[in-house]
Amino acid sequence: MYVVVHYAEIGLKGRNRPRFEERLRANLARSLRSLSEPRIRKLFGRILVQLPDHTDFEEVKRRIEKVFGVAYFSRVTLTRPELAEIEQAVDSYTKSRSFESFGVRVRRVEKTLPFTSNELERHLGQRIQQRTGARVELSRPDLWIVLHLLSREALLLHDRIPGPRGLPVGTAGQALSLISGGIDSPVAAHQMLKRGCTLSYVHFHSHPFTSTASQRKVRDLVAHLARYQGPVHLYAVPFGELQQTLVREAPSDPRIVLYRRFMLRIAEALAEREEARALVTGDSLGQVSSQTLGNLDTINRVATLPVLRPLVGLDKAEIVELAQHIGTFETSIEPDEDCCSYLMPSRPATWTRPDVIAAIERTLDVKGMVEASLAKVEQERIEPLDE
Ligand code: ATP
Ligand code: MG
Repeated sequence: MYVVVHYAEIGLKGRNRPRFEERLRANLARSLRSLSEPRIRKLFGRILVQLPDHTDFEEVKRRIEKVFGVAYFSRVTLTRPELAEIEQAVDSYTKSRSFESFGVRVRRVEKTLPFTSNELERHLGQRIQQRTGARVELSRPDLWIVLHLLSREALLLHDRIPGPRGLPVGTAGQALSLISGGIDSPVAAHQMLKRGCTLSYVHFHSHPFTSTASQRKVRDLVAHLARYQGPVHLYAVPFGELQQTLVREAPSDPRIVLYRRFMLRIAEALAEREEARALVTGDSLGQVSSQTLGNLDTINRVATLPVLRPLVGLDKAEIVELAQHIGTFETSIEPDEDCCSYLMPSRPATWTRPDVIAAIERTLDVKGMVEASLAKVEQERIEPLDE
């Protein structure tokens, strides 16, 4: 079985192009390897995947649909670029399909062949018409016959399946994603994977003061997201004791902002272990009190790495739609006890000032609190779901 993979955006990367292509090739190999034994090679601006004939194409499809950088892909019939072989391939392909109208498109990638694209289109069109009785139609036919002629191969493309687009994971650097078990953060992680980032994950939980539900959900979500990337690191940070300290020693209203500042500090320390160059959160401007500009600013002041917020301009409805599309929504809405609803203040501050919050923190042993949390961090390796 042959599958041809086309890529779009990475074609634009000039001198970096070979690096992007090589990464895409490696990512395709990784995602298919646990299914079958792929042989993968670059071929005139596309990638040709060869798999044993018995491989389940539906499963192949499910995997390639999660490889960022793929614009579209098709099963192909591979022949030599000679008329008799092409005719035979077209005959057996058209025999396997039912259609009343069709169109033929030939693209000559290699121009040394003895016929022009137009000549071949007309020739094949007449042949198919005679053999099947179907009519030629060039706008929205039931079936497109698409041929790409290379120097040593002719590719007959079957149905064109859209890929996830984006850039190959691993071409944009390493980031650490703060994942809560809610709807937004898995979508934020997905958006960064789509731009080529490799991710590690950190989750803050209040166990043993709350149940382990959020940790279980996060493991599921990370296993789901790992399908785009391969095995990943997940850090679980026990946060309950630090929260109790804040409840005892700091005013109640800005407590959520304080939680968030501590999360960023701890996340930065873990980012260093992972050699991550950015943090990722699921914040969306104004969605909840901790996401007003006044609070985002106060929270952000403790970070030295860029904090990427790919959902900042999206509405909740748009985020939910993405979560459903990615397949994380069902897990995200399972009930849990989020660490921020544990010891939630009764009137969360909606707009804080960095100097006021910094003054509060000067009364606390910030460094000691961060170090105590870091000492209890558990690191896990999460394998991709269903692989
Ligand atoms: P989400 O749906 O991702 O939980 P949210 O709408 O509930 O987001 P907040 O609870 O304010 O918003 O969280 C904002 C962001 O802060 C989250 O998207 C996530 O990146 C990070 N975050 C919040 N809680 C946690 C947590 N317990 N562990 C790790 N990151 C968290
Ligand atoms: Mg949340």
